[in-house]
Amino acid sequence: MSAQPATRNTGSLRVAVIGGGIIGLCTALELRGRGADVAVYESGMELGAGVTMRAAGMLGAAFEWAIEAEQRSLAALARHAGMLWPDFAARVERMSGGGMEFSPEGAIVIARRDGEIEWLETLVAACQARGVPARRLSLKELAHEERGLTGKVKGALLLPEDRQIDAQIALQRLGAALSRAGVGFKFGRKIERIIGGQVFQMPDGERFDRIVLATGAGALPAFAGPRGAPLEHGLVAMVPVKGQMLALAPVDCGPRHVIHSRDIYLAPKSRWVLVGATIERGRADTAVEPARIAALKAQAAELVPALANAPEVTSWAGIRPGTPDDAPMIGQTAIPGVFAALGHYRNGVLFAPATAELVADQVIDGKVSPLAAAFDPLRFDKQDEAARSLSERT
Ligand SMILES: Cc1cc2nc3c(=O)[nH]c(=O)nc-3n(C[C@H](O)[C@H](O)[C@H](O)COP(=O)(O)OP(=O)(O)OC[C@H]3O[C@@H](n4cnc5c(N)ncnc54)[C@H](O)[C@@H]3O)c2cc1C
Repeated sequence: MSAQPATRNTGSLRVAVIGGGIIGLCTALELRGRGADVAVYESGMELGAGVTMRAAGMLGAAFEWAIEAEQRSLAALARHAGMLWPDFAARVERMSGGGMEFSPEGAIVIARRDGEIEWLETLVAACQARGVPARRLSLKELAHEERGLTGKVKGALLLPEDRQIDAQIALQRLGAALSRAGVGFKFGRKIERIIGGQVFQMPDGERFDRIVLATGAGALPAFAGPRGAPLEHGLVAMVPVKGQMLALAPVDCGPRHVIHSRDIYLAPKSRWVLVGATIERGRADTAVEPARIAALKAQAAELVPALANAPEVTSWAGIRPGTPDDAPMIGQTAIPGVFAALGHYRNGVLFAPATAELVADQVIDGKVSPLAAAFDPLRFDKQDEAARSLSERT
């Protein structure tokens, strides 16, 4: 990531970022740092209208790396993003003048049933094969690290490079950093239509050289040419994946690290312990279902018995922006000058600084790195075309 925001320059490339979630804000910061004149259009009246506000804030680079071992590009993106986060968090904290609860403690993965030891071993082997730090903990070491954890644990693994932040606070800090860097926010502007051509004209009449779509699970704007003919961006529709989450009040003997079990995770912050999350593919409603929340609480209390008595602070549901192959869409769409930063599914907080780099490489320098190429937003169309031409030949 570029370190310094550029000074305002009237000759700069003008970029509109549509969507003020963590992906849009990190991308805006990176673009600004590389000298672009950036505005963020956000349909909400303030930051936090999207799913970022509902995230657990885990930066699970190693955990994701291991379980996604068959998806090499996704694993590489996770690893790269994980390495960017410490400096990135420090920079945003400096620029905004406030912390985002970046915690370098690492995450612990536990096996509670005999059959899950094999799962732990698979995670260790996948991490070791790729040089990602991962260490089996003895039960004694585990009890030292997490004294509130149930005694019914069969095995544990420490992933020292899996950090976390408070995603809600991070969003606010990013907003402050951007304002200080001279990025304009346009709240309460749901962008439904953009007129394209040599430049792009927004509904408020503002003109931009480039557009970045970072609308999460929201509807994409339509594009039309100067005479009103539709322009096709070629992007597939997002796959909504609902997640319900519970926030419990912190307790004595509560968790210190992020803890993953096969069923749930616990992500302790200073103000609460997040317990998550359901994964409900195809659901786009944000109803919170008491039975699901009760199940999360029961599972949390099985892991850390003191949580059985922890008051419930709140619960919520958010819609993860999924894609047909669960990987993000990063890069130029079928409309030259319009870029996607979409589909970050369950790892958008982790991926955000890396996505920002890849998008800025393309928007500013026209450079598509091999890593970015794996997330070509038009890959689904190309796969369809390849399948069609194969079936025509056979
Ligand atoms: C329960 C749960 C837990 C999660 N935990 C984690 C985690 O621990 N770690 C992790 O990395 N990820 C996690 N995620 C996933 C993460 O939240 C997402 O991947 C990430 O927040 C996506 O960010 P985004 O900026 O793309 O979307 P959003 O945060 O949804 O931002 C999109 C923004 O665009 C705006 N918008 C939409 N359409 C328009 C329009 N037409 N015009 C103007 N504005 C528009 C929206 O109002 C919104 O503010 C979790 C998700 C859930 C549901």
